[in-house]
Amino acid sequence: MSGKEVKYINDAFSSNWIAPLGPNVDEFEREIANYVGVKGAVAVSSGTAAIHLALSLLNVQKGDTVFCSSLTFVATANPILYQQAEPVFIDSEPESWNMSATALNRAFKDAERLNKLPKAVVIVNIYGQSAKMDELLAICNQYQVPIIEDAAESLGASYKGKASGTFGKFGVYSFNGNKIITTSGGGILVSNQTDALKRARFLAAQSKEPKPYYHHSELGYNYRLSNILAGIGRGQLEVLDERISERRRIFQVYQQELGRLIGVNFMPELENTFSNRWLTALTVDENLTGMSIKEVLAVLENENIEARRVWKPLHLQPLFKGCRYYSHNKEEHVAEQLFQTGICLPSGSNMSNDDQMRVIECLRSSLN
Ligand SMILES: *Cc1c(COP(=O)(O)O)cnc(C)c1O
Repeated sequence: MSGKEVKYINDAFSSNWIAPLGPNVDEFEREIANYVGVKGAVAVSSGTAAIHLALSLLNVQKGDTVFCSSLTFVATANPILYQQAEPVFIDSEPESWNMSATALNRAFKDAERLNKLPKAVVIVNIYGQSAKMDELLAICNQYQVPIIEDAAESLGASYKGKASGTFGKFGVYSFNGNKIITTSGGGILVSNQTDALKRARFLAAQSKEPKPYYHHSELGYNYRLSNILAGIGRGQLEVLDERISERRRIFQVYQQELGRLIGVNFMPELENTFSNRWLTALTVDENLTGMSIKEVLAVLENENIEARRVWKPLHLQPLFKGCRYYSHNKEEHVAEQLFQTGICLPSGSNMSNDDQMRVIECLRSSLN
């Protein structure tokens, strides 16, 4: 927390707006929409809920297919299963670690041949880095299939000057405790389609129809963000830009200190994009460093330093066994390779210099 949250929470308490919805929710939605440059936003209880709403708004149903990035957190694809639709996983490409346009192209060609286009494409921007949106948009537009941009990790990032999360028909940000800003738990759906957002509000409030009694003709959800949590979000939004500078600085220090080690490669920042560097991620080549990623993690763990592997691709998860998957090309399975070699280092915005140097020293002495 930054200390700026308390005034918004106090406002809610002093006006007794504790119930879900209220002035903080309205303002938080307006502030996020302004920040990323879209017409509107709907604050909800999690990023996962926002993805679920986006799929519902696009009428994704039982038996439909949805194309989805493979290298991501499971929350990206779970809502596809909530809708009883079938995810088809798309590999990453090496320059952004995000969805490969060549793999997406092949998936669409096959879908066209089978006469079954996907209802939506979910594109993820992992670790704060935007995917190659121009290439991906061109393909999706050609087939007229809408995009949901999972920007849960990339609030504040941009692609060619435009905010990450604003390229698709819908964009999603998360305010879970581990994200760049947090409401302890929460998320938001953004779009330029104000009618769709109105419907999202309806679905997220149990699909209660505007009648003088409780009347429901559609399935709904209890997905709205509370007025208290929205207050936390407003305070956090005030420090978002500072948080991004801090995360980028932390990345730079790691890169300066470790980037020259042979066999160590930092996650690239695609030209004309601005990453929020949510997490510092890098790959370690076992042949060149003499250490597997498992061993690197063990060495850190031994020093009581917590690090994590890069996401295990969803097409390798038992949960999604049997789902189709398109690799970057015949020889190259980029997401699998990143999983085999990738690690995320401690990257918190409040990390001290001493702590960071301790991580650096530990890696330097073992990767030599
Ligand atoms: C965190 C995250 C989500 C889910 O957000 P929650 O608010 O935790 O539900 C979805 N996708 C990605 C890529 C995430 O990192």
